[in-house]
Amino acid sequence: MNYVRALPTSIKTLGGVGPASAKAYTELGILTYSDLLLTSPRAWEDRSKVRALGGIGEGEMANTLVQVVAHTYFGQRSAKKRTLKILLKDVSGEGDGRLSLLCFGRNFLEKSIKVGSIYYFYGQVSRHMGELQSSQFELHPATEDGAFPSTFGKILPIYPLRGALTQRLIRANIQKVLDSVDRFEEELPHTLREKYSLMGTDEAIRIWHFPPSLELHEQARRTLAITELFYLQLVARRRKGFEGRAVHQGPAIPTKIELALIESLPFSLTPDQMGALHEIRKDLASETPMNRLLQGDVGSGKTLVAWITALHALSQNAQVAFMAPTELLARQHAESGAKLLEPLGVRLAFLTGSVKSKERKLLLKAIADGEVDIVVGTHALFSKEVAFKRLKYVIIDEQHRFGVEQRLALMEKAEVPDLLLMTATPIPRTLSLTVFGNLNVSTIRTMPAGRKPVVTHLVTEQSRQRMYKAVGVEFERGHQAYFVYPRIDDSGQSDLRDVTNMFEFLKTEYPGVPSELIHSKLEDEEKMSILKRYQSGQLSYLVSTSVVEVGIDIPNATCMVIEHADRFGLSALHQLRGRVGRSNLPSYCFLVFGNQLSDDAKERLRVMKESNDGFYIAEQDLLIRGPGEMTGTRQSGFLRLHYASLTEDLDLIELARSEADSILIRDPGLLESGNSVIREVLAQAPPFAPDNADAN
Ligand code: ADP
Ligand code: MG
Repeated sequence: MNYVRALPTSIKTLGGVGPASAKAYTELGILTYSDLLLTSPRAWEDRSKVRALGGIGEGEMANTLVQVVAHTYFGQRSAKKRTLKILLKDVSGEGDGRLSLLCFGRNFLEKSIKVGSIYYFYGQVSRHMGELQSSQFELHPATEDGAFPSTFGKILPIYPLRGALTQRLIRANIQKVLDSVDRFEEELPHTLREKYSLMGTDEAIRIWHFPPSLELHEQARRTLAITELFYLQLVARRRKGFEGRAVHQGPAIPTKIELALIESLPFSLTPDQMGALHEIRKDLASETPMNRLLQGDVGSGKTLVAWITALHALSQNAQVAFMAPTELLARQHAESGAKLLEPLGVRLAFLTGSVKSKERKLLLKAIADGEVDIVVGTHALFSKEVAFKRLKYVIIDEQHRFGVEQRLALMEKAEVPDLLLMTATPIPRTLSLTVFGNLNVSTIRTMPAGRKPVVTHLVTEQSRQRMYKAVGVEFERGHQAYFVYPRIDDSGQSDLRDVTNMFEFLKTEYPGVPSELIHSKLEDEEKMSILKRYQSGQLSYLVSTSVVEVGIDIPNATCMVIEHADRFGLSALHQLRGRVGRSNLPSYCFLVFGNQLSDDAKERLRVMKESNDGFYIAEQDLLIRGPGEMTGTRQSGFLRLHYASLTEDLDLIELARSEADSILIRDPGLLESGNSVIREVLAQAPPFAPDNADAN
């Protein structure tokens, strides 16, 4: 069956893919024909229309037919060092503009590009002293019959590149894959296509990559976007109780064990925490599976709420899975959870990829036998080997870091579990409601009493010394600090160098003040041991890459210094800042930046200086980044969509949702013949399936 999503042939079988390009493809996550087809162009270059030389603006792309008028030279006098300049005139019939090609290092072109001959020209032009010039261009000899050469007269896709990959290779490979399939299986029922005048899947996927016109391209995108959103809604809904589930028993009032925990706390819960608890208890007691997002700023006390609700589920004889996005965070949760819950007799276990062989076997058995009440872990929780005896409640921390696929995979392990998603990066309410249908939202707006907003300073090179002084004063008060560097590139080399330099430098700035370097290249054991020493106060500061970003909870830390702050996105900055201000001590965040800031970076820093409110910051983030950033294959924060945009396609989301609803209400088993297309897709090439999930 030739579903776009289900072509397992390796890209290595394609012509022109050698070891270097195969490696580059792998780095982009492209291993199979399907992966290749699902790689969305990041742009399309419109070469379908003549753009003649007359009247073309600085920096624009010209696309026209030209004739070679003359060869001249400029620069040095010697034949070797001079540079060829080819004079062209436009012969497309749309004006008589002229253009000079500057052939740096390409004097050899004088032989092949002959005076009098006619070419197709495509390239970027600039104006210099009244002369139209181009040094980056493509020339193709005009054909006898006047037909466009292969790269002209078309709209060309521009794919993301890596390593040895070129546009030419990717285009050729994708064309080959398209050619290798006679007809892609249809993915939408006929009625839907009819109703919304959509293309067939086969036509749409071909046009998506190589559109003959921009109009058709938009039609193809609409078709694929609706298909994608339709299945998203369908999959989400089918899991949500349309298939029925066991009845939950139990009251929506706090159980004894919950009260015991709440009473043991050295503080009282905030009204918002209590409100969230109440809502979650009600969901847990109801027959419909819970599907709830718990959102609240960093440090607002979400995790505590989650533990209390876990106790509630335990008294209904459930097993609970608590999933965190990183090993570090999972461990921290496991440790704080154990401290909180083990005194109450709760059996809590920790499972990640790093728990090894023998220990792992025992643990897996205990989970399967139901001898463990709560399992805390990373995505290792949903690997195939993990089987729960009576998993009924799934809690997911920092949910935006997981793909939909991973969440669904974990949920496969329980019949239809209650699901609590937690996030400190709130998604705008309208968006979450539309995408997840009846996802309910609990919000913790108020911070625990006594918390002071973190005072944020913008620091230039000139004020750097003042900052070091201020942090030094905090050390004298016995408080702690973080110094954070961005991950500058994927190779990890340069950021490593930066933190290392910084680490050495700070030792001279703060002689005798104990510190440690922590970065992603360290083993988890090592990282944990450093964090432990930091937590216990043996270390005064950490110099780190953004590994401290998520969830680390050390109340005595009062200073967060972020170097190259302009290179971080808003939500990362906010998360980082959230590592301080976690007690009633006054805390500070220093955002250090260089001189040349883009407008966006200026905006981000302004927002950070201005506000401590995660909700406001998330909104600003969306505004600054613009909806464009959220489309395409880019991780859109919490959903990986190929064609649809969560911000621009609200109408399509709505449409897909109501169609999915009406189909499931009319035909929950998808037994009608018109719906066999859907049944087939779900069976043969399930969208948002765990197999497509990446392991991070
Ligand atoms: P989040 O998960 O929202 O980032 P946590 O649950 O980790 O926040 O809480 C952050 C810190 O605040 C923890 O040390 C926690 O014990 C503490 N905390 C939670 N709720 C309260 C409260 N009501 N009053 C005081 N401190 C609280
Ligand atoms: Mg948290």
